[in-house]
Amino acid sequence: MVNYKELGLVNTKEMFAKAVAGGYAIPAFNFNNMEQLQAIIMAAAETKSPVILQVSKGARNYANQTLLRYMAEGAVEYAKELGWENPQIVLHLDHGDSFETCKSCVDMGFSSVMIDASSKPFEENIAITKQVVEYAHQYGVTVEAELGVLAGVEDEVAAEESHYTKPEEVIEFATRTGCDSLAISIGTSHGAYKFKPEQCTLDPQTGRLVPPPLAFDVLHEVEAKLPGFPIVLHGSSSVPQDEVDTINKYGGKLEAAVGIPEEQLREASKSAVCKINIDSDSRLAMTAAIRKTMAEHPAEFDPRKYLTPARESMKKLYIHKIVNVLGSDGKAL
Ligand SMILES: [Zn+2]
Repeated sequence: MVNYKELGLVNTKEMFAKAVAGGYAIPAFNFNNMEQLQAIIMAAAETKSPVILQVSKGARNYANQTLLRYMAEGAVEYAKELGWENPQIVLHLDHGDSFETCKSCVDMGFSSVMIDASSKPFEENIAITKQVVEYAHQYGVTVEAELGVLAGVEDEVAAEESHYTKPEEVIEFATRTGCDSLAISIGTSHGAYKFKPEQCTLDPQTGRLVPPPLAFDVLHEVEAKLPGFPIVLHGSSSVPQDEVDTINKYGGKLEAAVGIPEEQLREASKSAVCKINIDSDSRLAMTAAIRKTMAEHPAEFDPRKYLTPARESMKKLYIHKIVNVLGSDGKAL
């Protein structure tokens, strides 16, 4: 049993309270490998932004949960080496699917866990979430829960269609479970194919697909029911079209990939939304840079030669999100 405090990590409690009051959101970036983690920490250290490192089920299968935990411990020391004296780094389990998974993460030093029982009936979701909260809170670990269903595919979380969160359920859910934050469904979606072309309209100027707007009415109703309660948005990549174009130019085949417009996420950041999850955008940035470098330097076979531009590209993306979309820069001085 290791407590996260021994690793120099922080939980989300104070971070979220400040973000809600200050009208900004904390970035939650998923990581699976060293280059991605380096890029996240470099971006957070450079902008002095609090940051949430997220580990999904897919990441645990790919990289091993124990290794990822030690990488996060290393990330705290790395941040200090980069000159960030007081790093505010959360290690968070993304989409925990059972009490046992959440418990094992709490026990190995995660500072925050998500229990996602949103596909279960309301009463069952409450019961499982409450069990996780009771365990995690003994160790100061914060708990994110989910109400409502997001569409799309993210690692092993998949749903055919979304169901918006029902605002009338949120008070009862938050009160009975004691969760610290709540992921809601207002039209964001997992993956790089968030919307079918028939759900979108066509921008005549750019020829690009424009997705349907987020359900801000649902968000505002939730905020009215639970004033100041931290709200989380999953599936909030914007799928930058220049990255998609680069991937396709160098042999990729991404058709009709559509994300959430950044203006809408910026607007959401100013509300009680205090955590925004971004994963696909970093995958796109990495893939685009690797494809381009490999195409331009076909004789190169040293992975460091194509992973260096990939890491640079991810770092640039993370800084852009922190500064221009979430507004969390300078909040962890
Ligand atoms: Zn998610």
